[in-house]
Amino acid sequence: MPRSSVTRRLSLAILTVLVVSGYCVAYSSPKNVILLIGDGMGIGHITAARCAGPGRNGKLALDTMPVTGLVITHSANALVTDSAAAGTALATGCKTNNGIISQTTEGKPLMSLLKLARSMGKSGGVISTKFITDATPAAFLANASKRNQREDIAKQMIESGAEVILGGGKEDFLPRSAGGSRSDDLNLLVEAAERGYQVVDSAGAMSSAENNRPILGLFAQGSMSGKRPEPTLAEMTAKALSMLSSNPKGFFLMVEGAKIDSEAHGNNAEGVVREVLDFDDAVRTALDFAAENKSTLVVVTADHDTGGLAVLEPSDENQAFKAGWTTGGHSGNMVPLYAYGPGAIRLTGTHENAQIPKIIAGLWGKRLNN
Ligand SMILES: [Zn+2]
Repeated sequence: MPRSSVTRRLSLAILTVLVVSGYCVAYSSPKNVILLIGDGMGIGHITAARCAGPGRNGKLALDTMPVTGLVITHSANALVTDSAAAGTALATGCKTNNGIISQTTEGKPLMSLLKLARSMGKSGGVISTKFITDATPAAFLANASKRNQREDIAKQMIESGAEVILGGGKEDFLPRSAGGSRSDDLNLLVEAAERGYQVVDSAGAMSSAENNRPILGLFAQGSMSGKRPEPTLAEMTAKALSMLSSNPKGFFLMVEGAKIDSEAHGNNAEGVVREVLDFDDAVRTALDFAAENKSTLVVVTADHDTGGLAVLEPSDENQAFKAGWTTGGHSGNMVPLYAYGPGAIRLTGTHENAQIPKIIAGLWGKRLNN
């Protein structure tokens, strides 16, 4: 073979390797990340929702996600975690004690994945169906030594500059004189408007909000009811995605199905089914967005299991399943993880909860809290 032909073949081979590997690197680093957390959502809760929803042979939106894994949930000081320590692990990549929001066990503040994304020029958002100041969303936007410091958490949320904040818990943003529960005189809705937020309180106002300005939507004084004029979790997710995707550098969005946990604490199987199906609608919205916007990683998991729900054979033909509960609190069971999109494969297998955000940060070429 003539020398020039060998050289040509060799350079073609090298070029191919470079193109393919370059493609893989680009493909495995997601521009956008959507992390959906079902609070208290164990494998029993998902099985129950499948049986009562699409049917035992049917599929939930999350059943269509190609990559699955398992997550170990214990906190730094307890086998059975609470949402504060679990939220901290999922937000910052560090295990802490129950009750602490995004601080180490020694009280050192931790960087969250959302704040890391914003430091990279991406946009950031949090959504929840309960108080937006509750532990899970708080872990992404605030640092507090105790999860019940909700007045301070509300203030930190406004000051964070996060582009999307949607949920319940308006009372934490208003002084008592204005119908809220704050012990100081701060009106954080006025402050948010001064900082450039569009402040809305209904599904209608949310949908007509401009896509290129930050939004603070608080739809209930406390937990959201799931009824009009409140938006659904899927509607909040859809609006957040159309707003956040106006940033060409991408975004990080956390979506919490918060009331799965409350219903499971009450051992209310019907309520759990309703809340998991509601959460699954938000998962479908995220997956539809990711199918259209190829550089989007969607991750679905839970902070912990609540109730230790087992799905048992129904006792009559009108029942989709029979619920067997083991506790009115949380359990230490592992929880499932589902992923779709660039980098999803890195999340397969069994991981400590604190590994999840570190893996996502790694896909961005970053380190989170060392
Ligand atoms: Zn709980």
